Amino acid sequence: MVGRPSKKVFCQARRKYDGQPCRAKGILCKNGRWICRYHGGKSTGAKTLEGKLKQYKNLLQYKGKTDEEIKRIIRKDT
Ligand SMILES: [Zn+2]
Repeated sequence: MVGRPSKKVFCQARRKYDGQPCRAKGILCKNGRWICRYHGGKSTGAKTLEGKLKQYKNLLQYKGKTDEEIKRIIRKDT
């Protein structure tokens, strides 16, 4: 975006600390809401199996499991 747009679309989330609307610029989300990047706008999480594996490995409940076991769990819930 270049310059100052006349109409700026703000994020529709509420600020946690004072309950006021967030004043950051929003991005149109899949669910039809405008959400800024601070409130989970763009990121949709890991997409590849390798990315998910890395993510799952950080979770406590998957500690000590092998890659194969975790991969099986990922395939099951996707
Ligand atoms: Zn926001």
